[in-house]
Amino acid sequence: SFRGGSGESPKIYLQKTHSLLTNLRKWVTMKELIVSKFGGSSVKDASAMVRCGKIVAQNCLRKVVVISATYNTTNQLEEMYRQARLDLNESKLLLDKNRDRHLRLAQDVLAYFKTDVLETVMTDIEVLYQEAEGLLLEANQGPKSERLRRGSMDLAQQEIMAQLYSIGERLSSRIFFSYLKHLMPERSLRHIDARSMIRTDSTFLEAKPKWDAIATKTEALIGDIAHKDEIVVTQGFIGMDEMGRTTILGREGSDYTATLLGHALKPSSVEIWTDVPGIFDVDPRILPSAHVIREMDYDDATLMASLGAKVLFDQTMAPVCNLGIPIYVASTLAPENGGTWIKRLPPLPGPVGMALASHPRTLKQLEQRFCQNNPGILLGERVGVISLIGNLPNNFDLDVFLSGMGITSKLLEKGERHISFLIQLERLEEAASALHSRLF
Ligand code: ASP
Ligand code: MG
Repeated sequence: SFRGGSGESPKIYLQKTHSLLTNLRKWVTMKELIVSKFGGSSVKDASAMVRCGKIVAQNCLRKVVVISATYNTTNQLEEMYRQARLDLNESKLLLDKNRDRHLRLAQDVLAYFKTDVLETVMTDIEVLYQEAEGLLLEANQGPKSERLRRGSMDLAQQEIMAQLYSIGERLSSRIFFSYLKHLMPERSLRHIDARSMIRTDSTFLEAKPKWDAIATKTEALIGDIAHKDEIVVTQGFIGMDEMGRTTILGREGSDYTATLLGHALKPSSVEIWTDVPGIFDVDPRILPSAHVIREMDYDDATLMASLGAKVLFDQTMAPVCNLGIPIYVASTLAPENGGTWIKRLPPLPGPVGMALASHPRTLKQLEQRFCQNNPGILLGERVGVISLIGNLPNNFDLDVFLSGMGITSKLLEKGERHISFLIQLERLEEAASALHSRLF
């Protein structure tokens, strides 16, 4: 009979060899490289951008930088589009305000250096706004024939919206790129359009990324970046379909861009820089007693995100979880405070976190998810959803606990690692607070 070196059974020996090989493979394939994504609030003004620049400069492994549109710009682009359908001049006024904000940002952020590039940056910004104006005109007067030839009116309008969204990310990445270039004159920097890497299907506003095509394109463009002294700056959430049309991965999708690039490049980690110091066990804006989860499993993080916790885009974990590439979530306002590591962990006993959903957009998404088990369910205005992720203690009865507070709830979904229930909106905070102090 076969025995391993230390006399254990063949099964255990094989298991050990397998995990050794897996770790070895990880170690061999993972590169000395970090993909770092910065969210919109982290680049909202010049001093915020400067903080992001410092973070990039601090670690020479941060070579792939993904950057969102500046704070609120994406919402404003949506608003401009809506206005353009009604009143073109009104929407141009909104565009002008946004233009002023970006011109000022470029001026402020480059004022730190003695440089004559400001003019070039301003010209590039202006070109982007010209493009935006053209799109608003198309939104107002109907799409140009070129767009119509390729799809119905509806699709042509969606294409316009996707293209308009792209302006926000292209503006912020253009500005951040020239800032970084001056901050680190000794490093070589490249500004790459994310659409040349992020290939998707043609669902303009919620496009499905094509992982293999992304890997091929990214590999071809920057596959050797780990061995080069180079930094690449690119945009979040935008992609391109097979016909070369702009698509987006869905609102808040820049986190997903970062891990899709992670899937292609096999970095040692993907960082998500935001304005909160990690993932909290409950929304800290609602419960100040919330604390940061230091380590969590990919699947638990996906549950938290898809059940309405605002920190990450819900599909973020998928591209990297099978590769075991960890995701680090931290705050640009206090990088020294650490953050949350998302990685593969054995199922942790006890509760991990709570997701509270009360925003209409979140409830709409949850409605789609819950209607499978609850046909016809409508999550209207006066309700909220609480989800508990992890395990509840054996002696804990949720129904008894809530009815003890005079709160009625309705079970929506129960899985191995979570339970979600409906609750009246007015009692959501109170219930969440009581559950948090009892369970966490
Ligand atoms: N700028 C986009 C949005 O606001 C993408 C992102 O920030 O993740 O939805
Ligand atoms: Mg986000």
